[in-house]
Amino acid sequence: MNRNIVKLQGLNIDTFSFDEAVEYANKISGQVVTINPEMIDNAVKNPKFAELINNADLVIPDGIGVEIGLKILGYKVKRIAGIEFSHKMIEECAKSNQSIALIGAKPEIVKKAKENLINEFPSLYVTYMQDGYFKDDEKILEDLKIRQPRLVLCALGSPKQEEFILKAKTILPQSLFIGVGGSFDVWSGVVKRAPELYQKLGLEWLYRTVIDPKRFKRIFPTLPLFVLKVLREKFIPKGV
Ligand code: UDP
Repeated sequence: MNRNIVKLQGLNIDTFSFDEAVEYANKISGQVVTINPEMIDNAVKNPKFAELINNADLVIPDGIGVEIGLKILGYKVKRIAGIEFSHKMIEECAKSNQSIALIGAKPEIVKKAKENLINEFPSLYVTYMQDGYFKDDEKILEDLKIRQPRLVLCALGSPKQEEFILKAKTILPQSLFIGVGGSFDVWSGVVKRAPELYQKLGLEWLYRTVIDPKRFKRIFPTLPLFVLKVLREKFIPKGV
């Protein structure tokens, strides 16, 4: 199975379906980026971050914004929620007796997320757990090297998690790393995902903004501006 990559704002995005992405991820190691319009915005302003994304081993279109952006450019790609993809990869590891590591979020959150995941998948082996408020990357990298987890989930927020993974993947060439944002908060039970209807309609962002109005500043004007930039990418040739 080969990657079929399309470009959005100069960034690689994989066009796999959910099941294909899982099948592909099971066969590879390296960095999985679950990309959203905020990250694209960051990459457009920051060439180093763009390079990181374009060197990633799998880039999943996480969220309705990316799906709309791709649609404007004529690509029919369905969004894959990073949290669902990561959850499925945990299940795959539990089934095949491969170990995982959880790095990120507040200490009580990562602990509770671990407990809940083990309740859900009793054969899951969490070989390493670490909250996301550490100062010394090197110590964590040394610990990971000893533990050799197959799957490392990093919930440090973006771009911190992607930058941490960039360092870690050279030290653990056999592992698969996914930046999972706020997923541990959800798995811990502390944060609820939007009701399914919102998820189906691609309005999870609206629900999260209503619940936590602080997010408004993060989403607006990023989301509408992102759509405008993609329209520009489609209709106005480069350099004009
Ligand atoms: N976080 C962390 N270390 C930090 C900053 C953030 O572990 O230095 C965690 C935070 O506790 C939360 C996650 O990273 O669990 C990021 O959540 P956010 O809602 O920002 O993620 P996103 O919306 O980007 O998916």
